[in-house]
Order: sequence, then C-alpha cells, then structure tokens
Amino acid sequence: MYIAMVASECAPVAKVGGLADVIHGLSRELQRRGEAVEVFLPMYDCMSYDRIEGLEQCWADLWVPYYSDGIFCDVFRGRVDGINACFIKPRSRENFFDRGAYYGQEDDPARFAFYSRAALEFMYKSGRRPDVIHCHDWQTGLVPVALFEIYQALGMERTRVCYTLHNVHHQGITGPHILHQSGLGMHLMSPEKLGDNEHPGAVNLMKGGIVYSNFVTTVSPSYADEIRWTPLGHGLQSTLNTHAAKFGGVLNGVDYGTWNPEIDPQLPYHYTPADLAGKFRDQQALRQRLWLQNRFKPVVAVVSRLDAQKGIHLISHALFFALANRAQFVLLGSASDASIDAHFRALKARFNDHPDCHLELGYDEELSHLIYAGADMLVIPSAFEPCGLTQIIAMKYGTVPVVRATGGLADTVFDANYSDKPFEQRTGFTFNDFDEAGLESALGRAIGLWYDYPRYFSQLMRNSMHQDYSWKQPADHYLNIYRHILS
Ligand code: ADP
Repeated sequence: MYIAMVASECAPVAKVGGLADVIHGLSRELQRRGEAVEVFLPMYDCMSYDRIEGLEQCWADLWVPYYSDGIFCDVFRGRVDGINACFIKPRSRENFFDRGAYYGQEDDPARFAFYSRAALEFMYKSGRRPDVIHCHDWQTGLVPVALFEIYQALGMERTRVCYTLHNVHHQGITGPHILHQSGLGMHLMSPEKLGDNEHPGAVNLMKGGIVYSNFVTTVSPSYADEIRWTPLGHGLQSTLNTHAAKFGGVLNGVDYGTWNPEIDPQLPYHYTPADLAGKFRDQQALRQRLWLQNRFKPVVAVVSRLDAQKGIHLISHALFFALANRAQFVLLGSASDASIDAHFRALKARFNDHPDCHLELGYDEELSHLIYAGADMLVIPSAFEPCGLTQIIAMKYGTVPVVRATGGLADTVFDANYSDKPFEQRTGFTFNDFDEAGLESALGRAIGLWYDYPRYFSQLMRNSMHQDYSWKQPADHYLNIYRHILS
C-alpha cells in the first residue's frame, strides 16, 4: 500500500509537539511492516536541516493555483530517520514558510491551505497515486476537500483519505477567501460542508476535513467521546455526530526506537525494569546538570509546552507544593504566549538559587530525555489532553505520571489506589478536579508513597515500564482503517 502522510510537523526535523512524534512514529512502524510511506511537509526555513539525509530537489517549477493566478514551487526529497519525505517550497513574495516559526502567523490559514493544495498538485503532476492519504489536523483539512472536489475528476479517483484530529481546539476558522484562494467553489460555504457551525459566514478547515474524508480518527477513545458530547468539541459536536459512522478514537503510540531507556543514546546510563541502577545514576546526572543539591528527595518534573491547555496555574502550584513537601522540582517548557512566558520567567528568577528547583525555559530535546530518565514523577495537570505523549514516554522511563484524568491521560494512566485494574496495570496517580486541591490529592499521594512505601513506589515504576504503548497496536488499527476505506 502506498500511504502519503500529509502533515505540518514530523520529528525530528520539524517538531512543535506530539503531532511531530506521531507522524514520525506511525510512518516508521508502517514502513517496518512493508508499506510504502512518504511524508509531505512544508519546507520551513527553521527546520533542522541536519536531520535530513540526502536532501535534493526532485521537481522544479510546480505551478500551484493561487487565487486567479498561481505560485511556482520547488519540491525537495530526502530521508528523515529512514522515512522518505517530500518538502514543498513555494517561491513567492508571501514567503509562506520562511518566517522563522512554524505557526503563530496571522495568515496561517492561507499558508496551510496553500500547502494542502500544493501537496495534491505535486502528487497529481508527478504521477503519484496514493492508495491512502493520511492527513492531520486543521492545517491539512483542505486535502480531502480538494482531492474530491478537484483531483478526483483528473484521475485520482482511487485515492482514499483518513483524517486524524490531534487537537480540535485549533480548527482553522477563517474567511471565505480561502475557498477562492484554493480554487474551490463558494457553494462549499454551506452548513453541511465547510461553513462553520458557530461563526456564520466563516469557513472551518477542520470541519471540511471531517466532512470529506473517508474515515476520521482522533488520538484516544476518551477524547473521541469528549469531543462528540461535551464542549471540548468546540462547536464540532454536531458535525462529528452526523459523521459518527466513520469516526473513532485510536490511541497514539510512542516510538520505542527513540524513547527507550535501554538504548537511548541521549542518556549517560541505561537501565531496564529488572535493574534500575542506571536510573538513579541518571538522576544524579540530572541534578548535576541543573545545579540541584544531591539529597534523598524525589524529583517531580514537568516537560511541556506552556499553554493554557496544559494547566498553567496547576503547573505553578505543583512547584510550590513539591518544594513544601520535601521534593525537588524541575521544569522544561516553552511558551509561545507572551504573558505565560513572562509568568515562568518571573518564577525562574525567583527560584534561581534554590537548591531544590530548576526551571529551564525553551525547547531542548536532549534535556527532555535526561528529565524523563532522572525524574521520579511527571506532573501533567491538563485542562484537556487529546492523547498526551509525555505520560507514555515517562512510563517507559519508569517515571510515575501524576495526571488529570482527561482524554488520553485517562486512557493510559491508572491510579495506584483507586483504579479497578489489576495491580500490575496500575501505573500512576490521577485526579479529576481541575483545581489545586485536585492536584494536591494526587501529587501528595505520590510523594507520600515515595517516602513511606518505597518498595510499592518502585513496583509502580516497574508496572509503568512493562506497559506496551509502542506503535504496534495503533498501526494495526490504522492498517485496518486503510483497508476498510479502500474496500
Ligand atoms: P502536545 O502535542 O500538546 O505538545 P504531547 O504530550 O502530545 O503534547 O507531546 C509533547 C511532545 O513534545 C513530547 O515529545 C515532549 O517530550 C515534547 N516537548 C514538549 N515540550 C518540550 C520542551 N520544552 N523541550 C523538549 N521537548 C518538549
């Protein structure tokens, strides 16, 4: 099967969050099963070019319609961690992907609508006829729309589309000009098609993806329910319910070739569930690197984008609660919002010389590995979480997750005390209420167990490490979906 993965991120070359890990991990697993996978990405100026092997131009002067005119693009080809990838580079004064940032531009809908159209135009002109196009999030919502409205009649009638919603908080809601820009008719503004459910006169790119795709998934079963039946659907509930017969949740996996303490090249010491000595040495290395005192205290960590979704006030509260309860606290986070960034910079300045606390503000892949290995607990107090990868990574590294039971967090972390799962499947601590008391109830139990029942705590660590959240099972699910829509 030839699968074209059309997305706006792919680790390690262009990563903002979990979407990048998913494109990388799922593509690698599908390729390992013998499927032909090709990843499509915009050619951002800020990508990690050193992570692309054999980058070379493979197509020149691809003419992509844009309003009543067009924009020439060049297409480059290379390999990202063994995966074939195509990069689309428009040549125009809009400089869509030469902005020094992936997202956060005023014209994001125009940038990614153009990319969606260009990816299809390239497939069409280069004779590529994917069996399945798997596209992701609002940035590529126009792919199935343009495929079935334009390219099907031009000879791409056999291609089917699977569309995955990674976060419906961002839907690509924009003006009707986007249809004109993309060569699509204004009749698509109708409420059954791309017309936004809550903003009359606006176009919703994610809704277009849902309506036009042959199958739609989201990244955990709980989130699939939440976005159909609760305000977490942000206006898409009725659309998802109309299309419920082709919608389901598939839990993400993580790539254990990248995230595995037995082989992780970014770690000073390796370890296994049977022998955790390396983890304690990694903890010392972490303390040394972050100027923390070497004391008999648990290390409570956060690795996160610092965004309102992630529970900013509860992350801050975890810091104060950890320090007040004989724990150390480490944070690695990056904020795109200026006020959130200022908040954490102030906290960093305040705790700069504290021997039990370190805040590292920015994006640091290598340090994230050392934190997953060196911490005892990872706190994830999200307001909502479609899947969440950090708790899954933490578990593989024997770091006990302390999470709010929402979305994928509820599907992957089972409470040490209250879960109805057998003991060997209990992996962490959960809480329900999105407030300080809720967080304290879970983090307090975790720190208490660490001090008072260390054998029980280390059994939880081992339980976590034994869970299998590799891409094996999710890849089976996706292959079944691909076969289903092709049949
Ligand atoms: P989201 O996609 O909402 O950001 P996920 O939990 O799905 O959240 O995925 C987050 C991914 O980004 C994980 O691989 C995590 O390790 C990584 N990550 C988040 N923040 C940072 C950071 N500041 N530095 C390095 N890696 C980070």
